[in-house]
Amino acid sequence: MSIKLPIAELPIAIVGGGPAGALAAALLGAGGRDVLLFDEKLAWEKPCGGGVTHKALERYPFLADAGSGSNLVEHCELISPSGQRVRFQLQHPVAIFSRMGLNGLLLERARRAGLSVEIRNERVTRVARTDDGWQLITPQREYKASYLILAAGARNPFRAQFLSPISPSDLMVTAGYFIPRGSSPGDGSLMQIQFLQGITGYIWVFPRADHVSAGIAGKMGEISTGELRRILEKWLVENRFRLDGAGFYSHILPSFRAQTFETLEVCGNGWAMIGDSAGLVDPITGEGLYYALRSAELCAGALLGGQPDDYRTQLAEEILPELRLAARVSQRFYNGQVFGDSVLKRMVGLTAQSATFRELMSDLFAGIQGYGDLRTRLYRILPAVLKEGLAGTFGWPWNKTGNSEFSANPLVE
Ligand SMILES: Cc1cc2nc3c(=O)[nH]c(=O)nc-3n(C[C@H](O)[C@H](O)[C@H](O)COP(=O)(O)OP(=O)(O)OC[C@H]3O[C@@H](n4cnc5c(N)ncnc54)[C@H](O)[C@@H]3O)c2cc1C
Repeated sequence: MSIKLPIAELPIAIVGGGPAGALAAALLGAGGRDVLLFDEKLAWEKPCGGGVTHKALERYPFLADAGSGSNLVEHCELISPSGQRVRFQLQHPVAIFSRMGLNGLLLERARRAGLSVEIRNERVTRVARTDDGWQLITPQREYKASYLILAAGARNPFRAQFLSPISPSDLMVTAGYFIPRGSSPGDGSLMQIQFLQGITGYIWVFPRADHVSAGIAGKMGEISTGELRRILEKWLVENRFRLDGAGFYSHILPSFRAQTFETLEVCGNGWAMIGDSAGLVDPITGEGLYYALRSAELCAGALLGGQPDDYRTQLAEEILPELRLAARVSQRFYNGQVFGDSVLKRMVGLTAQSATFRELMSDLFAGIQGYGDLRTRLYRILPAVLKEGLAGTFGWPWNKTGNSEFSANPLVE
């Protein structure tokens, strides 16, 4: 005979133990709630750049203390679609993690939160409502829960039960390689971003502690994964990376349009979605790790406070305006024109020519310059940027300017 437990005694179930699910489990466990966390793979090398911004490191200092688990990168190279390159120093380094390491660290924190967190290495195949909460089915067993947090990533298989399916226009496709350090040029202290003609996305090279994650992203429907892979491979070979021994990866990445953010539902009666499952990724940069962690924190805080719907309100106040704005300007950023040239080319040029503009770029990479007041800052710094640009003839000097290097050559070394 089965005994029916009162709702308060049933655990909170979290489907997905990536950054979002693992942090939510750690916080809920530390707050005294019983948690059942499911992940079919536990710590794994999820396709990702692994770049964690200064904003995220400040908010989650335990990530900054990860030591050898991450590679702190202080130099960045931007490459315009036509091949102009600028290297500059970041005022705040970006920490580049292997995802195996990052997920492992966060799962360990969930484990250490206490006996109230139970981590199951199982794939949830079905979730269904019951009179007293939820039933979750895995190939191994059946579980009961009072509340359901979906943190199953961009491919969230349960979304259709709660919301309409994600449109392909709200996704990016990605392709990439994990390349052994010995097969990459450089000493692992430089991250590279190559912008591309006619592609809403970019190539990145993020050096990690013991390998490099190099990848490419483009809007779904605009380009196929196969074509992206071909462009990336050509670029890597031209830039002296060797692909023998490199592991290929491909994944989808949420990149919501502004109208999708406007109608976004992140929680309902007895359930919430966090991280990629909810589409919380910056549509310009593809940064999702900060939003996965912050949404987990907001969701856990709302549950611990006994007001689950506060998650929706706080997300709408703090995170969604920024992501919506990014979605609005994304097309202009990748495909727009300014002063008679492409935004991307101008951005690379101004980064080379103006120390004031470099400061702005550095703050954008650190995540501490939001989109909300970006325009105001641009207007404020315009006179200084123009002055510095004119001093550098405002053309394309292909020379060293201050603490940046600028070149039309494919390799500046
Ligand atoms: C190629 C690529 C590069 C990226 N680079 C960066 C970057 O450099 N910086 C950055 O900030 N963001 C980056 N992102 C985004 C970042 O990877 C995500 O935003 C982040 O992983 C989201 O965390 P999450 O916990 O929401 O989801 P995920 O990390 O996807 O975790 C979901 C977890 O759920 C588990 N799961 C799924 N279904 C089930 C199931 N049915 N049962 C049990 N377990 C399940 C999976 O095993 C997985 O561990 C990148 C994304 C891609 C695709």
